[in-house]
Amino acid sequence: MTREPRFDILFEPLKIGPVTAKNRFYQVPHCTGMGWQRPNMLAAMRGMKAEGGWGVINTEYCSIHPSSDDLLCPYASLWDKSDIRAHLMMTEKMHEHGALAGVELWYGGATASNLYTRNVPFDVNSKPSWKGFPFQSRKMDKQDFRDLRQWYKDAALRAKEAGFDIVYAYANHNDLLHNFQRVGTNDRTDEYGGSVQNRSRLLRETIEVLKDTVGDTMAVAVRFSPDDERMKNNQPVTEETREFFMQVAELPDLWDVTAASWDIELGTSRFVNEGGNEPYMSYVKEMTSKPVVAVGRFTSPDTMVNQIKRGVVDMIGAARPSIADPFLPKKVEEGRFEDIRECIGCNMCYTGDQLGIPIRCTQNPTMGEEWRRGWHPENIREKGSESSVLVIGAGPAGLEATHALGKRGYNVMLSEARKEIGGRVAQESRLPSLSEWVRVKDYREQQFLKLPNVDVFLDSKLTAEEALMAEADHIVIATGAKWRSDGFGRTNTMPIENLNHSKQIFTPDDIMAGRLPEGRVVVFDDDYYYMGPVIAEMLQRAGCDVTFVSTADMACSFGVYTTEQPTAQKSLMEAGVKLVFSQNIDAFDGENITLECMYTEQESSLKADAIVMVTARLPTDNLYYELQQLMEDGKAGATKSICRIGDCEAPGPIASAVYSGRLYAEELDDDSGINYSLRRDVNFQD
Ligand code: ADP
Ligand code: SF4
Repeated sequence: MTREPRFDILFEPLKIGPVTAKNRFYQVPHCTGMGWQRPNMLAAMRGMKAEGGWGVINTEYCSIHPSSDDLLCPYASLWDKSDIRAHLMMTEKMHEHGALAGVELWYGGATASNLYTRNVPFDVNSKPSWKGFPFQSRKMDKQDFRDLRQWYKDAALRAKEAGFDIVYAYANHNDLLHNFQRVGTNDRTDEYGGSVQNRSRLLRETIEVLKDTVGDTMAVAVRFSPDDERMKNNQPVTEETREFFMQVAELPDLWDVTAASWDIELGTSRFVNEGGNEPYMSYVKEMTSKPVVAVGRFTSPDTMVNQIKRGVVDMIGAARPSIADPFLPKKVEEGRFEDIRECIGCNMCYTGDQLGIPIRCTQNPTMGEEWRRGWHPENIREKGSESSVLVIGAGPAGLEATHALGKRGYNVMLSEARKEIGGRVAQESRLPSLSEWVRVKDYREQQFLKLPNVDVFLDSKLTAEEALMAEADHIVIATGAKWRSDGFGRTNTMPIENLNHSKQIFTPDDIMAGRLPEGRVVVFDDDYYYMGPVIAEMLQRAGCDVTFVSTADMACSFGVYTTEQPTAQKSLMEAGVKLVFSQNIDAFDGENITLECMYTEQESSLKADAIVMVTARLPTDNLYYELQQLMEDGKAGATKSICRIGDCEAPGPIASAVYSGRLYAEELDDDSGINYSLRRDVNFQD
């Protein structure tokens, strides 16, 4: 297919200082959980994006010196020759496909607690890290400024040797350069503090060093927040930031701008929509003649065109859309819009960095597995036999297995008990703020429509005998899981004994099916993710008097890793939900709940008409065990294998279900004998 003319603007080349990007698709720096520790994984993953048509591809934050070490979070580094070699593997792949390679040079200051190198970091003053570790930076002295300039210079030269085309000064996100910029953090009285002129000095010097060192052949970009967080008195300081920006507006070759607040820049789709950054940065283009790039979780090509035509940006910045679909630019170019795997804004990808593990993605199960397992987001090897496969259950696991098996060429029958496909994503996406979850279903559904070898049977709840009657060679059970109502979970490792099992106990499945409690409702959260807060807020807004009781010390504690925790808790509070933390439920007599403090075991009482239990899920695995027994008894006919995947095997996030579907499909008829889990990545030092 040829490109529609209205998208031509996205494919116009753009000059960035001494280099030229082939199109307007710009993968901004984003964390990967790989960094210097996993160079092969990183090279293969970024190389995939180059193949997918991105014009510019950047690294994650890349440390210029060992005194800027952010472990546990895996960052990139340019400290020595081994780093140059590691990055070269990546930049070569980018150049193979005509992409520019950018590196986000980073000095963290107090943010980097140097847990690995044990160096003392320096910063604008002696301040504690916002990350909560019990260390402080030292205040920069004159020698530190000289050292910093030298380190930027050395890192820029290494970047050049490593084949990069763009070099960044990373000047936001509470790191060193940002701390010098902000009135709220810079209390210096020397030439680096006080006036805008003084506070912008370090950024100006850094840009100058980079320009002088490599600016003849490499573009110099700056990552910057053109708004700023509010001061203590809650006054916006945007005017002040504008004044600051005027000092530096023409100095670099490109501006990469994002809202100062992570909650906006990296907000989950629960709280921030596509294009959510615009109000915070739209003035920038008026104030500089240099190209501007900004993110906004853009997945709609029309919105992208609109952003450029309205003069908001020159290039479309993307982190998450490029993770969910590394081939997004190619698909736009070829007019294959229905093939775009749209990001759902869940931020599972960001957990990689926060947990120190390789990146993963809900929509794109191949993300992070390009090197280890050799997976490709668009291609999959042909079937290894003429086998047929029956997939039972059309949730994310069953859908992904069906899609990938179908693409391999197997004859696939997908049987679903309900009248619609989607399983949990269809159900959950009907809850407030989770509507984008449905994209997990939509993408796969679109893909089935093209495959003549895939048959979908709705309203078709199968028993073990009926499953065998399909005479498939392989049976995959993807029947999901149900929320438990008995209180069993991470805290109560047995059902709660003194629970009045009346109609007053509800589960998220009840809520999603429209069976709602009334009056005083306790949402008991032992799950620690989004489901409890979403339901609590929904019921409160529907008129219930809701108390959110959790065994944890905060709401949505897993959201610390996805960035949504503070917003989720704020949202609950603003909705008027009462919050009770560190309490377990000991008993419920239908009117009173007995709570027990997690620390002191002290008991207290709470009046309630109903409880919504958000604790754990029970796999729907009876069909699996029945079929397994029939196999064992030799009564399964010609069936060669029976397997369970997704939540039916082990309940988890949607990303795990999708991954497990993909894994099944990739491994069917794989007789290589390779255990890919054993493939560990290393960076060899000199
Ligand atoms: P996962 O997240 O593992 O994909 P889900 O709970 O989202 O699991 O989806 C499981 C799907 O399986 C649901 O749509 C459910 O209706 C379906 N299902 C459960 N039991 C059967 C059965 N016996 N026959 C067909 N479909 C079933
Ligand atoms: Fe988008 Fe979620 Fe994938 Fe991240 S993990 S890219 S937020 S779908």
